[in-house]
Amino acid sequence: MSPESASPGTTERLTVQRCRELLARREVSARELTQHFLARIERLEPRLHCFIEWDAADALAQADAADAALKEGVTHDRRPLLGVPVAIKDNIAVRGHTLRCASRILGDFRSPYDATVVERLRAAGAILLGRLNMDEFAMGSSTENSAFGPTRNPWDPDRTPGGSSGGSAAAVSAGECPAALGSDTGGSIRQPAAFCGCVGLKPTYGRVSRYGLVAFASSLDQIGPLATTVEDTALLLKVIAGHDPRDATSLPDPVPDYTAPIEPDLRGVRLGLPREYFGSGLAPEVEQAVRKAIEHLQGLGAEILEVSLPHTPHGLATYYVIATAEASANLARFDGIRYGLRVEGQDPVELYERTRGRGFGPEVKRRIILGTFVLSSGYYDAYYLRAQKVRTLIRRDFLEAFTRVDALVAPVTPTVAFRLGEKISDPLQMYLTDVFTLSCNLAGICGLSIPCGWTASPCLPIGLQLLGPPLGEQTLLRVAGAYQLTTDWHRRQPPLATDGF
Ligand code: GLN
Repeated sequence: MSPESASPGTTERLTVQRCRELLARREVSARELTQHFLARIERLEPRLHCFIEWDAADALAQADAADAALKEGVTHDRRPLLGVPVAIKDNIAVRGHTLRCASRILGDFRSPYDATVVERLRAAGAILLGRLNMDEFAMGSSTENSAFGPTRNPWDPDRTPGGSSGGSAAAVSAGECPAALGSDTGGSIRQPAAFCGCVGLKPTYGRVSRYGLVAFASSLDQIGPLATTVEDTALLLKVIAGHDPRDATSLPDPVPDYTAPIEPDLRGVRLGLPREYFGSGLAPEVEQAVRKAIEHLQGLGAEILEVSLPHTPHGLATYYVIATAEASANLARFDGIRYGLRVEGQDPVELYERTRGRGFGPEVKRRIILGTFVLSSGYYDAYYLRAQKVRTLIRRDFLEAFTRVDALVAPVTPTVAFRLGEKISDPLQMYLTDVFTLSCNLAGICGLSIPCGWTASPCLPIGLQLLGPPLGEQTLLRVAGAYQLTTDWHRRQPPLATDGF
């Protein structure tokens, strides 16, 4: 059977699981599978622009190596992603490939090493397809801040796929790859997953190594998977999670078997509905779908309790003080001396100014200026230190809630995907799209986004967010798995295969 006959838009979606089955039964080779995704990329990219770069020759060489291993009898028990193509966000290092964070300032810098997550994907046998588009340095919610132009939403090309991992979510949703890695500092995996109708997981802070992830806000950043099903998400998490001595914030806890079979039974699970996430500003269609999903979970046996996270209203301000402060320090290394773009000047200061002036886009500059301000002497206590204190209160709210419930259920975003251009000139409106996702990063807990409905017209996905305690990924996957097993939303595919583009 050719992979095309099992491809999206026809009958069954080419999930990671499906790829594994086809490979294991020798119904397709890794080369054929890779060719299928490359062909789809070639066909859809002029319209969607999910990738900044892909390397067909390199992908096919990896596929041939996978085929050789399969021929030798290596199984998916030993190498769980053997022969399965995946794609990587442009802020995660892949040896020998460009690493630009969708910025001009890195020029054509190539990474000399693999990020730990990439090492682990390779060890698991995955085939790396290419570099996915994003907002510059992961700052943004729409991919419009990419120096390479925005990605378009496969459900409606006039709309944003979300951001900053918009390329990852759009590529998965469009079937250009069965799964992808993104990064989430304030919602950048979950929000695009919600806007594109796929599953996205932000692991607990420290669960997945950040070694080889270009730092935006180091105390908030986490790498995580995007896929079309809960099983695939769990499998990717299992591969990339675990302690890494090269990341000082990496947690030593053993990795549980995230891929344990999912059951439609949620008896004994207590889910909290945070009052503050259902207030004004939430689009009625989104609220309706989320409430319906919660009723559905109740129908599967979960107990629903109302809880309060009283410091929620301060989340956005706290995030934008801490994230910008950390970004201003992290981005100081892009100075035109060490790597990437260099614009000469009379003296080093002029060289810095010119390089950074030309290399960074407007949003990144805004954040560096804001972050430098909140850290400056005389303002440090009033802004940065105070934000750190509020952050502790936000974390306490969550930990307190988790003494009563196993996980929280909430919307991911206040609205469905907005139009490209709609918010780009109004940073505050753009920041507000993450109002339900960023507290999770401030608290260091885990969060998952799963499709729970579509608006009628235009037909756009809606996400349900599950938030879990530190290292509570298994609970999130159990709840999401039960939901997926008893609903059909994950089977929906954007109208790409038949509309001729
Ligand atoms: N949209 C948020 C921001 O712009 C979150 C970004 C992210 O998670 N990387 O900071």
